Amino acid sequence: MALIVHKYGGTSMGSTERIRNVAKRVAKWVRAGHQLVVVPSAMSGETNRLLGLAKELSATPSPRELDAIAATGEQVSSGLLAIALQAEGIDSVSYAGWQVAIKTDSAFTKARIESIDDARVRADLAAGKVVVITGFQGVSPEGHISTLGRGGSDTSAVAVAAALKADECLIYTDVDGVYTTDPRVVPEARRLNTVSFEEMLEMASLGSKVLQIRSVEFAGKYRVPLRVLSSFTPWDIDLEEEAKSGTLISFEEDENMEQAVVSGIAFNRDEAKITVVGVPDTPGIAYQILGKVAEANIDIDVIIQNVSREGKTDFSFTVHRNDYAKTIELLKAQVQPALGAADIIGDPKICKVSIVGIGMRSHVGIASTMFKSLADEGINIQMITTSEIKTSVVIDEKYMELAVRALHKAFGLDEAKA
Ligand code: ADP
Ligand code: ASP
Ligand code: MG
Repeated sequence: MALIVHKYGGTSMGSTERIRNVAKRVAKWVRAGHQLVVVPSAMSGETNRLLGLAKELSATPSPRELDAIAATGEQVSSGLLAIALQAEGIDSVSYAGWQVAIKTDSAFTKARIESIDDARVRADLAAGKVVVITGFQGVSPEGHISTLGRGGSDTSAVAVAAALKADECLIYTDVDGVYTTDPRVVPEARRLNTVSFEEMLEMASLGSKVLQIRSVEFAGKYRVPLRVLSSFTPWDIDLEEEAKSGTLISFEEDENMEQAVVSGIAFNRDEAKITVVGVPDTPGIAYQILGKVAEANIDIDVIIQNVSREGKTDFSFTVHRNDYAKTIELLKAQVQPALGAADIIGDPKICKVSIVGIGMRSHVGIASTMFKSLADEGINIQMITTSEIKTSVVIDEKYMELAVRALHKAFGLDEAKA
């Protein structure tokens, strides 16, 4: 008997028919003798619908109320799943995050899980129940409902698995694993049988939304065995086969494994570029610009400072596209006058494309292969950033798909592995 956490995403929970299928799959695992905790997302489209209602009423809705609204999506799907399980003859109970309790900080709309009280869940499991816990949410220290950011149900599932020391956390979704890149953009993308934890961490942080970044961080910190697999296989496939399907996030580097130099291509259309033009090239300039942005709680990603000419330089960086207008406004009001900058300009229609691979540590010339294939496609690179196992470029958003396909091909990811 093992303790297993299943997570089902929005598409997998998208209709009562699909919820019934989820219940049948969970029932199969229970009948095989396992203890099950299930973490569902809201039914597909529901979180957007709920947030859309709030936006109809205000352009600046209060984050606390947004969380109170958005959290209901998961509450509905959890209750429905518990009912579907009961209809299958499986004893089941659903809890919202605050009932467990999943305790978070108070950063509404992007809260972090701080601790999970496992007593209630353990008692239910001991009594033979399947416990359904809402994804995406928890409760703040002041007792308010909080949510974990878009895609946060992955994090709920892994955090619950860590708290319960579950034997495995299975993330069931609408693709059958982690691919070399988003299979919806590159049909030639290949599923990876295993992906190293470090590569998965980079891919998630660089925009592959198959797993929320914090779920991968949790898995790493607490060594939670984690697998991404399809919820669209027939529910009654052989359990042993299902348990081995999809992609395992692996913590061990298998030295004998034939490692591709580049394992995956990630992309992110959520960023915007901002340039502060003609600032004096003197000590403290980066701090004076970026310090103000950070004080406003705006995350900064790629940063570039140009070589100075005649004592002046340009300073560019990227922020989340949602923060674009706010950042420009702030710079114009506070930084431009103080530094005497010539202008503040920006472009919200950019994207970041990244190649990721542990093999990059030990191979040279990878970045130049990347730059050459983009040049061959006539794609201009606006910014570049590298770290040990990734290289990212910022390019015009309209070339994103072309760039991803070209790189996928250039690094041999299209081909079947021998
Ligand atoms: P869920 O609702 O199950 O959480 P998501 O839509 O959040 O599903 O994540 C699954 C989606 O992630 C896939 O449908 C796919 O389009 C996208 N995706 C992006 N990058 C990858 C990748 N490298 N491998 C697999 N899927 C990816
Ligand atoms: N329902 C939430 C969202 O759409 C959480 C999730 O699906 O993981 O972001
Ligand atoms: Mg998701």
